[in-house]
Formats: sequence, structure tokens, C-alpha cells
Amino acid sequence: MSSHRDEPRPFRYDAEVDPGEKRHVDYEIGETYLGKPVEIPVTIVNGEHPGPRLFLSAAIHGDEVNGVKVLQEVADRYDPAKLHGTLVIAHVLNVPGYTAQQRYLPIYDQDINRKFPGTEGGSTASRMAKVVYDRFVSRCDFGLDFHTSTRNRMTVLHARADMDDEGVRRLVDQTGVQLTISGAGAPGMMRRVATEDGTPLVTVEMGEANRFQPLLIDLGRQAVENVLAANEMYPGTEVRRPEFTKVLDTDAEKRWIRADHGGLVEMKWGPLPVVDEGETICVVSDHFKREQHVVSAPFDGFLVGILANPRVLPGHPLVHLVSITDEDREAIRAAYDRVGFLRHGTFHWMGRTDPERLQRLLAEDDRRRADGGT
Ligand SMILES: [Zn+2]
Repeated sequence: MSSHRDEPRPFRYDAEVDPGEKRHVDYEIGETYLGKPVEIPVTIVNGEHPGPRLFLSAAIHGDEVNGVKVLQEVADRYDPAKLHGTLVIAHVLNVPGYTAQQRYLPIYDQDINRKFPGTEGGSTASRMAKVVYDRFVSRCDFGLDFHTSTRNRMTVLHARADMDDEGVRRLVDQTGVQLTISGAGAPGMMRRVATEDGTPLVTVEMGEANRFQPLLIDLGRQAVENVLAANEMYPGTEVRRPEFTKVLDTDAEKRWIRADHGGLVEMKWGPLPVVDEGETICVVSDHFKREQHVVSAPFDGFLVGILANPRVLPGHPLVHLVSITDEDREAIRAAYDRVGFLRHGTFHWMGRTDPERLQRLLAEDDRRRADGGT
């Protein structure tokens, strides 16, 4: 692999960033209606020392901004004089969507993340994907792509990754992200295409669209730092290993549980995002409380995704439930008990939370941090 070269190299996209240089670039990937350039913000930190090239990206879906904050922090944090290798940081991939505060590329709702590796003569999204892929992604050794849930939902911190690929498996392990949903991904996804081309790429999913969630952002930044540490890219990095890890196969039972009635949703699960078969997940009721529909878990499961908007119509998703074993459930419970809420970012969830228990967990977490613990 290129990381084993003895000499530091310039990073070439269609310009060159020398070893020891950090450069912020506005890179043209398309044009506006006025014929002016659409530019994505990219930071290239080329280390003075040889090492691998890590690609980092966010907001390929324009309303997913937790990762944007992660990358702002990462781009600011690392000094090229100390870095071994290169960080290629694409802060916002879907600039038109980001500007419009929406997921897809306006106005034809194209998903850039289905258009990789892109084409020169294709749709707007496909042309943009091609520039990003050719200039940046394909020139790196591995990468992380930060996402959140779509609007009105939230998702627990987890990785989406093709765990059949050895490089991807290694990378997922390095991030220290506890939960991984394994699968190659849809055709045209950046992570799928890059991985098939020899640049293992992992999606990191965390939280809600259109907001900054500081605890999750801290976990995302830590995932990057863990990868730097594992690849000996930066001296003095602080590694945090997870309390447990779990890989869920794509063929594991998983399902969006949907509302059968319109109304108001009151979540009843919690405080931990695991439910036993038959346990009440939520209640959907009308305004007069004449009708209350209990929604219960069809199997023992982990709540990977959760509705954040409490108004539903029949067919709206309520929770994304993934089947787990008894053993998994106990491991998750034990881990959350040991580590507390803060580290897992579940604090922002809208599950039922016993105030006393929450206060105890928060106090424990503070104490652990003060002690300099894990
Ligand atoms: Zn996304």
C-alpha cells in the first residue's frame, strides 16, 4: 500500500499540495443557473511524514450536518508538521442541497449518493459525483463518509459497511463504532463503488438532520482520531475503544415499524434503545384520547432509527428495529450501564427516561470524565 513509501508525497488532485502543507480549497464541481461555479469546500492536510491517505466527507445529503461539524473540527485540529500521511476532507459534498437545506440535489431530487463513480455526460448529480470521485476519493487509501438520519427521524451512532471486504472490516474496527450494519450498499453509493475500486469506505450514521448534536459530533471526531491512531498517522492521539461491538448482517431481521393510524406519537421505550418482544414501543392517539393504539415490538430488537416528529399518518415509520439475541441485549445493557448515556449520544433521544436514573448516569459520566477514565 502507498502508506509504506518512505518519502512523503505531494497530494495531486488537479493542483498539488506539498508535504507539510494544509490547504483550504473551494473546488468547482458544477455551475449555478447564473453560470457561476458551484464549489465544494475541501481541506487537504498533507503531512510532512509519509503515510496513508484518509478521505473524509459529509453532507452528501444536504441536510445532514452533524458530520459537517465533525469535519470542521478535524480540519482545524491536525498539524501537517506532525501528520504521517494525508487527510482529504470534503466538508460539504452536496453544496446545492446544503444551500437549500434539503437532502437531494435541487430541483429534480437527484441523490448524488446513487451516482458514483459518475459520468461526464450524465445528470447533474452524476457529473458532480465524477469530479468528487476522480479528484479526491479515488486518490485515497480509505475513507469515512458521515451521514445522519433523514429529516423527522434520528439514528443511533452506527456504521454501514461491507464487512465482506477485509479493508472495510479493518477500518470499522479502527473507528471504534460499536454497531455496524453490514452490506455492500446500493449501486452507485460512494462507499460501495470506492470499496470495489480498492478504497475501503465506511458510512458513519449519527443523529438527526438539520442540527448539531454535540455529543454525537464528539463521537464522530473520536472515530476519526481512532483511525489516525490505528494507522500511526498522528502522534499523541487519544484512542477510545468501545465497550462492545456488534455487527448485524443484512439478512438479520430488521424492519421499519409503521403507524397504522394517524395521530400523536408518545414514545414509551427507554431509557436504553433495546426492547423485548411484546414490549410497548409507543402509543399513537387522537387528540381526544378516544383511541389509543399501542405499538409493541414484534421481536427482541435494537432501535437503530426513531421517529423524531410526533405526528404521524398511517404508513409513517415509527422505529427501525433490528433483531438481536439475548446475548446481544445483555451486552448492550451492560455496556450502557458501564459507560452511561452521554458517550452513546442517546441523551437526545425522546424515549422515556426515569429522571432519577438519568441524573445518576449523568453524574457517573461526569465523574468518569473527571477521573480521566475511558
Ligand atoms: Zn445520508
